[in-house]
Amino acid sequence: MIEFDHLTKTYNGKNAVDNLTTGIRDGEIYGLLGPNGAGKSTTILMLTGLIEPTAGRCLVAGIDVTKDPVAVKSRIGYMPEDVGFYANLSAEENLGYFARLYGMERTSQKKRIADLLSLVGLDGVTKEVGGYSKGMRQRLGLAKALLNNPAVIVLDEPTANLDPQGVADYRRIITEAAAGGTTVLVSSHILAEVSRVCTRVGILARGRLVAEGSVDELAARPGGSGDQRMVFRVATRSPMPAFSHPALLDATYAADRCSATLAATEDLRDFIADTLAADGIPLRELAKEEYTLEDTFLSYYQEAS
Ligand code: ADP
Repeated sequence: MIEFDHLTKTYNGKNAVDNLTTGIRDGEIYGLLGPNGAGKSTTILMLTGLIEPTAGRCLVAGIDVTKDPVAVKSRIGYMPEDVGFYANLSAEENLGYFARLYGMERTSQKKRIADLLSLVGLDGVTKEVGGYSKGMRQRLGLAKALLNNPAVIVLDEPTANLDPQGVADYRRIITEAAAGGTTVLVSSHILAEVSRVCTRVGILARGRLVAEGSVDELAARPGGSGDQRMVFRVATRSPMPAFSHPALLDATYAADRCSATLAATEDLRDFIADTLAADGIPLRELAKEEYTLEDTFLSYYQEAS
């Protein structure tokens, strides 16, 4: 349903999106995950036809976005990070305005809007959108993205302003939409946002797709959270030496060398305590933590930099 074909966008000689090539099938919920500045918004702006690629192309249902933006826009429901609404109109009136833009027929329009407002939990809210909280605006943004029954929904950081109930509602709504055959693309820098709902995740770092797969597949990378990697937090009362051990994968020391985070493939607590004791360095804290999914994903970004 969505195809990125060597998609590239260059700003001031730097690739914001660098040769992105991947495809998203009908009914998939695909998460584009990456830190700020990774190129997620730039990718989405090209997909929705709001900016043009420097090279490569995006296709939606086989249609090249640059060649026929109108045909593509009618198939996409897009929710930007901050959706623009008329502040002095109610939710119903705002959606009515967009429904007319889409050329929806009047009677089906009314029912569709009522159904959507109920779906996103804004039914019965009559006040003007200007008085909405950010979370309510985001709920309305989701309703707007679904309004024209699009084949593809594109959501940019969809849960940034939602409370836990809003997040749960959002997950239910996009899961149901995908089950009905809608293709969903979600961009986020928050792992939890994509890991719970996405059937596949693409990791974007510095404009490049550095890994792709289900969350389980990505977590199962060697040394990843699926591979029993462990993390140790060490704090001492005087500066500690650099540890050296075959099982040690990674070590980060604070500038004063009185605290450190070590990653290893086996439990190094005895080794750390013994090394410090031999050097006469008093230990303040030594804690073992499981390597989390968050740590695994962070390592993908770090490798790309
Ligand atoms: P993300 O959405 O992942 O946070 P963006 O797509 O917004 O990332 O940005 C990717 C890179 O492109 C960043 O380095 C950003 O500074 C740069 N960039 C984005 N838009 C522009 C623009 N209009 N002009 C110049 N640089 C831009």
